[in-house]
Amino acid sequence: MKKSSRNIITIGIASILIVGSLFTLSQCAPLQPSNPAQAPTQATQPSIDSPTPTHTEAIDMEVSVIDVGQGDSILVMSEGRSLLVDAGDRSSGDEVVAYLREQGVESIDYIVATHGDADHIGGMVEVLETFDVTHDIIAPELAGTTATYQNFAAAVEREPGVGFTTPSVGTSYSLGDATIQIIANGEGEKDTNDSSIVLRVVCGGKSALLPGDIPERVELQLVAANAPLDSDLLKAGHHGSKYSSSTIFLDAVSPDYVVISYGANNRYGHPAPEALERLRETGATLYDTVDDGTVVFLFSDGVIMPPKAA
Ligand SMILES: [Zn+2]
Repeated sequence: MKKSSRNIITIGIASILIVGSLFTLSQCAPLQPSNPAQAPTQATQPSIDSPTPTHTEAIDMEVSVIDVGQGDSILVMSEGRSLLVDAGDRSSGDEVVAYLREQGVESIDYIVATHGDADHIGGMVEVLETFDVTHDIIAPELAGTTATYQNFAAAVEREPGVGFTTPSVGTSYSLGDATIQIIANGEGEKDTNDSSIVLRVVCGGKSALLPGDIPERVELQLVAANAPLDSDLLKAGHHGSKYSSSTIFLDAVSPDYVVISYGANNRYGHPAPEALERLRETGATLYDTVDDGTVVFLFSDGVIMPPKAA
């Protein structure tokens, strides 16, 4: 079901400039650096009930979990650089394009197609027809089986100088002040969900984990491999399917915030009550695209601000 209006919840992980803690500036420098000599006395300490970041708090990274109904599409921006992870199904392409334009995106630096299912790559055709892409499309080697996937692959082929790449686990890319880490690359997997590229985006000590649609088996493999899963924000795996979000995996991620991306009244029964229960047990604050629309997390080094509907 398409949405005609979009609610946006904004969560600021806003900055408190702690006296003397200039070391914390090393990875994620504020957009408007303050004078170090004045910082200790002029730094703004947001009050606990301050709902949104003020102009004095620089936003280093923005993670938008876009409401695309039953599917995934996540935009990460830092210092004007952009990473698009999935683009929803074919009917969501226009919404994804519109959202990117609203955010001022003119060309996309990185695109990750986590796996070949239609609810992740269907909207990519419109995205690729609208925006130039700087780098090869990051995707697992396993191709999708649908006509929608064929259309996506054809759209990539039409992009001059752009192809597919499947990076090794441990590969990282720089995105403005942020770093994109490849946690899993689907190597050897035979099922599209299982083959999902898993990535973690880190900025200023804060991180977001985007696990595509991996099931429990792959989650447990990552835990066993000591993959760097610990993250402040988690996009729940596979739209809250009961076959994902295992307790052991969630313990390793230990999120403060969780977003479930799914469509109202979907035929899969997502999110499953069992998965919701496990996600609630983490103690994280839960959001979802049905109740909250597009959910936007603002990252800066410091405190986490309460959400506020736009
Ligand atoms: Zn999916």
